[in-house]
Amino acid sequence: MPVTNETILQWLQRSAQVLHENNAYLTELDSAIGDADHGSNMDRGFNAVITKIADMQEADIGTLLKTVGTTLVSTVGGASGPLYGTAFLRAGMATTGKKALETADIVAMFEAAVEGVKARGKAQAGEKTMLDALIPAIEAGKQAQLEQVDIPELLKRMAASAASGMQSTIGLTATKGRASYLGERSVGHQDPGATSSWLIVQALADTVAS
Ligand code: ADP
Ligand code: MG
Ligand code: MG
Repeated sequence: MPVTNETILQWLQRSAQVLHENNAYLTELDSAIGDADHGSNMDRGFNAVITKIADMQEADIGTLLKTVGTTLVSTVGGASGPLYGTAFLRAGMATTGKKALETADIVAMFEAAVEGVKARGKAQAGEKTMLDALIPAIEAGKQAQLEQVDIPELLKRMAASAASGMQSTIGLTATKGRASYLGERSVGHQDPGATSSWLIVQALADTVAS
C-alpha cells in the first residue's frame, strides 16, 4: 500500500502530538548544550502546522509538505526553524502533485529533505546535528529499497537507524550550531535536533504501521 495524502496528514498530526509530549525532554537536552528552547520551538512550530493543515484533506502531498515548510520557517525561529523548514519545503518539491507515494518516492522525499538540511546548514555527518539521525535513516531507506521490502518495513528500518544515529551523537563533539560553542564539553550529551528528527521519522513509521 502506498503512503497517501491522508497518511501524510496523520503523520503530521502524530508528529505534533509526539513533539508536544516530548517538549520538556527536548528542552532538557537543549539546556545541556544549547539555550533550552528546542522543545518549545518544535512544539510551537508543529502546533501552527496542525492549524494550517486542518482543512487540507484534499491537498496533494507536495502542497501539504510545502505548507509545513513555510509554517515552520515563520514560527520556529532559531537554527532549527530554517533547517526543518527547508527540509519540508524540499520534501514538498520532491512530491509535487502526488497523492500517493511508492517506495522510490518516499526515499526521494527524504533524500531531498536531507540534501536541503545539508545545503542550508553547511553541515555534514558527524557534526552532532539532526543530520546524524537523518543521514543514517536515508542510508537505511536506500538499502531497504534495494532489498525490496514493503513500505512499513522500510520506514521501520529508517526509524531504527535514526534512533541509533541519535544515540551516536552522545559521543560526538559539536562543530555546528550553539552546541559548538562548548567544543569538547558537548561530548556526553545527546543532540536535541537529532532527537526531534528521530521522533518525526518514528512518527511516520508508527503512522504507517498502525
Ligand atoms: P537554536 O540552537 O537556535 O536555539 P534549536 O534549539 O531549536 O535552535 O535547534 C538546535 C538544533 O539544531 C541542534 O540540536 C542541531 O541538531 C540543529 N542544528 C544546529 N545547527 C545546525 C546545522 N548547521 N545543520 C544541521 N543542524 C543544525
Ligand atoms: Mg536551542
Ligand atoms: Mg534558540
